[in-house]
Amino acid sequence: MQTVDASQVSTAEIKELTARPRVDFSSVLGLVEPIVEEVRQRGDEAVREFTKKFDRADTDAVCVPLQDMPAPQLEPDVSQAFDVAFNNISAFHKGQQGDILEVETMPGVRCRRITRPVGAVGLYVPGGTAILPSSALMLAVPAGIAGCSTIVMATPPRPDGSISPEVLYCARKAGVTHILLAGGAQAVAAMAWGTATCPKVDKILGPGNQYVTAAKMLLQNSEAMISIDMPAGPSEVMVIADAEAPHAHIAADLLSQAEHGPDSQVVLVALPGCDVDGIQAEVQRQTEQLPRGNTVMQALSHSAVVLARSRQEAASISNLYAPEHLIVNTADAEDWLPLLQNAGSIFLGRWTPESVGDYASGTNHVLPTYGYARMYSGVSLDSFQKKITVQCLTQEGLQNVGPAVAKMAAVEGLDAHRRAVTLRLGIDKS
Ligand code: NAD
Repeated sequence: MQTVDASQVSTAEIKELTARPRVDFSSVLGLVEPIVEEVRQRGDEAVREFTKKFDRADTDAVCVPLQDMPAPQLEPDVSQAFDVAFNNISAFHKGQQGDILEVETMPGVRCRRITRPVGAVGLYVPGGTAILPSSALMLAVPAGIAGCSTIVMATPPRPDGSISPEVLYCARKAGVTHILLAGGAQAVAAMAWGTATCPKVDKILGPGNQYVTAAKMLLQNSEAMISIDMPAGPSEVMVIADAEAPHAHIAADLLSQAEHGPDSQVVLVALPGCDVDGIQAEVQRQTEQLPRGNTVMQALSHSAVVLARSRQEAASISNLYAPEHLIVNTADAEDWLPLLQNAGSIFLGRWTPESVGDYASGTNHVLPTYGYARMYSGVSLDSFQKKITVQCLTQEGLQNVGPAVAKMAAVEGLDAHRRAVTLRLGIDKS
């Protein structure tokens, strides 16, 4: 990893050094568009053909009600691990259920905000290179708690046409209603347009590779009328470490993101006194032990170490980068929180590896990447809900606010608006 001293370079140079690997969506969009169109026109038949082509799997059924699928058999220690994660994710997302907001803005003018679930949601659980039952939980648990009535989970089938029993276990536990045996752009298109077997959904959430992301981007601007959770890019972590942070822990945390894919990026922000050479040597040592060593090496080739002079400077660098995951491995981690403005999820202190958020602490692991943490939040209960505002006025309320409304409508030249008020108040005889 290239090292740069923040005191010797400009902010622009730090930005340049920590720039994410570019994703060329224009060429991927060109590949994805015909797939999306085929699925629109030919539905399940097209999905089946693309599944055969890209996943080398034969599937009889494309989308199946979950209740029609056999209960998966897992080893007890595996199901117990997923049960721990389910319970913690449920607890944290149930805790996000907010009270109804109600404010009387003037006497007799009562404004409320109520919450309703998105009716039908599509959850994409990646499965091309690795099975990700943890993502199944991260998406389905809040969808179930929100009360979405149709929950379609899409995941690429295995060559024999089945899906991973772990994914199925998580889907059943969380209340998924349908399993779509497809991945990639064809799965996203099937959920967005609807097919003979797959219900049409209103919103599509979940991470995926460039084909999945491109299909989501394309379809949210189409007649399919869907929304998506957020733009997604390769995974990333920033670690802020002080001089006492153990090298082995810093290295393991950096590598836990580097092993996600060759496009992943990791950044170490080293506080004064950090032995950066020692940490780099430890990264090298641990990389050699990892089965995904080649992937890690590629990710490390566009990763960086930044030397910071102070807490303030390190926090500014982190806010500039807006990491998906931010680990603060310092003795005074809690004191950093007020300084941190942009991050998908923050991991505070010596005992909080990022892996716990990936699996089972209870927070969601579907997070904004690529600097989008500046303006997007990760998936949460809110992602599966809409907020509806409500107002109810008494006669006194309309007498209080009406004159202002009538005057503003007159200024804007909207006479019907003005009369809707003045006729009720009996001050417009025309
Ligand atoms: P995936 O399920 O996203 O993609 C597999 C699908 O891609 C296949 O089913 C196939 O249909 C399609 N595909 C493959 N080659 C194609 C081609 N040439 N043309 C058209 N379609 C093609 O699985 P993946 O590939 O393993 O990617 C998973 C991604 O999700 C990774 O980038 C990973 O980092 C990311 N991820 C992110 C998070 C997060 O929270 N940010 C969590 C988990 C995974």
